[in-house]
This record gives sequence, C-alpha cells and structure tokens, in this order.
Amino acid sequence: MSENLSPQLLALNFCKNPLCADFGSLNAANYSLSSATNNPQIACINCHSISPIIWPTELNHEVTAQLEHNHAGLTACTSEQCVNVGLNVQLHPNRYYAFGFSGDKQRYRCKNCQKTIVDRFSVENPNLKTHVTILALLLTGFSLKEIAAKLKIQAKTLNDHIKVMATICRQKSSVFDHHWKNKGQKFLLGSDWTFLQPKSQNGVLWVCTGDLDSHYIAQQSLNLSEQKITINHRFIGSDFLASINTAPPAPKTEALKDIIESLNVAHQERTHLNNPLHNQTQLNYPAKSSLVSPIYCTAAHYLQLNQALGNKEQVMLSMSFEPMLADAAMLSFNAMRQKQSLDLLYQVEDESWTEGKTGNKPQLLRFEDSAPPWSLSEQWHLRGKADQRAICQLVESNLTQKQAHQLPKLSSITHYMDRFHAMFKSSVNEPRRKRRPEGLLPLLDIYRAWNNLCHQENPGETPAVNAGISEKPLSLDQLLQ
Ligand SMILES: [Zn+2]
Ligand SMILES: [Zn+2]
Repeated sequence: MSENLSPQLLALNFCKNPLCADFGSLNAANYSLSSATNNPQIACINCHSISPIIWPTELNHEVTAQLEHNHAGLTACTSEQCVNVGLNVQLHPNRYYAFGFSGDKQRYRCKNCQKTIVDRFSVENPNLKTHVTILALLLTGFSLKEIAAKLKIQAKTLNDHIKVMATICRQKSSVFDHHWKNKGQKFLLGSDWTFLQPKSQNGVLWVCTGDLDSHYIAQQSLNLSEQKITINHRFIGSDFLASINTAPPAPKTEALKDIIESLNVAHQERTHLNNPLHNQTQLNYPAKSSLVSPIYCTAAHYLQLNQALGNKEQVMLSMSFEPMLADAAMLSFNAMRQKQSLDLLYQVEDESWTEGKTGNKPQLLRFEDSAPPWSLSEQWHLRGKADQRAICQLVESNLTQKQAHQLPKLSSITHYMDRFHAMFKSSVNEPRRKRRPEGLLPLLDIYRAWNNLCHQENPGETPAVNAGISEKPLSLDQLLQ
C-alpha cells in the first residue's frame, strides 16, 4: 500500500516513537497503510505503532481558521489568497499605500491585491473610559451580569464593547508578538493544556505555549470552530461518545514516579494516545460551534510557532506529560529537528521545586511499557521530603540531561491558565455557557494581551518587559487606546 503514501502525507504521519530506529523517517517503504475502515491508519513497519492519519489539507484548513481568528479586525489585508493577508500595516508599511481617509480614519490599499482597509486604530478609541472600567471590573472578578448592572447597560451592549476590546487587544498582541519572535536566536518554550471550562465537560481544550524565562505567552489555541461540521477528520461529531468508561487511576502516592505511572496508564487507555478526549464519556457538545479533533488544533498551534521560529538556531520546547502535545510538536517542528535545532521534552516537577537551584545527579526512571526513559533528580532539604523533577527527552539536539534538569519550571504556563479560571470564574462556570464556549473567546484575547503587557509579576516586570520587547508595563489605558 506504500504507493499511496505521498510525501505530503508522510510529512505529517511519520513514526513519532523516539525509541524506533525509523523515528522521523520520511521513506514510504517503512510504513503500511490500512484503508479497510473509514478511518484509515498508518503503521510503522519497524515498531508497529499505529496512528490515525492526519490529513494535510484538513490541517491546512485548521491553520487558516486559527489565523483568521487571530487576524480578525487587524489593520491588514484580509484577502485569503493574498501574500499580505494578516500582515499589519504598522509592521509592514512597505506592503501598503496610504489611500486617503474614511471619515477621520486613515485608509490603506494593499500593494499586492489592491484591497482597501480602513485603520480603526488611527483615531483614538472613543469608548476608552468605558473599556478601561469594564476591564478593571473583569480583572477584579465581577461577572458580566454584575458589570452590565453597574454600568447600567444592556448585556448585548456590554458584549459588543468586549468584542471591540478584544480586537484592540489582538492588534496590540500582534505588534508585540512580532517583536517577540525577532528578539533572538535561542528560544526556551513551555507548553501546557487544560480544559477551557473544566466543570463543563464540553470537550473544549485550551493549549498554551510561552517563554519559560520571560513568561510571555506566545500562542494559545482552542479546538473550537465556528465552521459547520462537514464529513472530514478534522472535526469531532456531536454524536461523539468515548468508548472508555473508567476514570483514570489515581496515583498510588504523590511521588512523581507514581504520578507519571498513572498518567501513562490513562494515556494507554485512550483509543489513540494523542486524543485526550478519548476518555471523556460525557460531552456537552457546543450548540453553535464545532469541536476540532485535538491533534489538528494542537498541530495548527505549533505550525504557527514553527512559521515564526523555523529559522532560529535553537528552540527548546518543554511540555507537560501529554502525547497530544508531543505528537503535534514533532510533526510541526520536524524540519527543525532535522537541522538539529530542536529539543523536545516532557517535564514534570513538584510544586515546591526551586527554580535555579540544581538537584542531585539525575537517576534513570523506567516504566513497564516501552515509553522512552525518564530521569529523576531531587533537591534535598535538611528536613522533610526531597523535591523532585522528572524529565523525558523526546528529541535531543543541544540539551544535555544535566541542562534539561536545570531548566526553568513549567508552572508559569500552567499558572497562566489557572489564573484565567480564577479571575473569570463566573463566566467560565456560568451554566448557560456550558454549551456556548465561544463567548469566552474575546475574554481570552483580552486576557493574553493583559497578561503579557500589563500584568506585573514583580514591580515593573511584565512578561513583555522581561522578554526585552517593552520598556515598561502598559497601563489599562495604554492597552485599550
Ligand atoms: Zn517506528
Ligand atoms: Zn492583499
């Protein structure tokens, strides 16, 4: 069957088992394709690992959909087919002509496709005061209902304000993201994921990747699409029900070894390793949106980062123990792996692990199945139990095991997501939002911009300041103007 394996298909579906001799091989002779079912799978002949096929065109659609969301409302060309699509006038002035005014607002014309764009950001935000008040109230935990009542406005009006605020924040983020990706040659990134509404069981996943040293959140993606489900592999149907009924086993103790062991068992129980929804037995399917298959969402997430960072000398990506993240990263950053500029690892550590302090010499940690080996290091104390960190190096290019154990903690990314859940608790847990998760999208855009540009972890230090791309923290006025 290997004649059906086109280079495009192999580029996404190569063997991702780091222990296999054919790991990363793009040679069709090393694979076999089963087309017996309506869900074709690919098998590595050497290690016998079997995966559902990831389809190139469907993945492209997902990348486009995520980009469209990130570009919505920016002053940039909007023609799908144009090379300038999504490229900010502010950052790429040579791609546009100034083209008169629309009212008070500056107008531009795309040099490539001649489309005209009005720059809404060329005049002051007429609702700045209201927007700052809304954001301040949101950040102090008021619910949307309470905010509407306080400001004596309709829920619909509040919603419209929030959408405009989100557009302004996306515009600000696009400028700082541009500076972030140009800040150097070496990137130390961390990824984690969670459910967007942990109590809602609606299958919406939230994947985040950021700088581990500055805590700048570079990319966030949700497996939520406003497109209607069509017959294809990118979507999860509304009739989806997991086949597995058992809850993941609780770890025997709180030791990292037992935590990893129990996660391992939970992963093995999935229909496929890279689909965390495959042990969700109940799903409150979104009423107005479609759920994207997690691997497509996550691969599109990393493909955008690869687009931004593909030519860098060194990219180190550390992630929580989740095969969905690892598989998606491997296929998205494969060219970087081939150039030996990529390191990819799982990282799990005790909450009280001290960053910047070395532990003892890492010891090998083996588990029963054939998963790649982990190594464990400990920080000892005079009293009490030691703090532990466990690392599993999936792709090794530049990082030694010792260096891997000295990396910053992954918790900055996890805390970013936890903080959203805490700050926007009333919106996240609102019962009627269980099946309407798309209402949270504008809040997420606002939250990321606020986190990167305004939120001070230490006085004067925002993630953007720490990344060297902002001189000082932005006030809420500056964020929303
Ligand atoms: Zn293999
Ligand atoms: Zn254009």
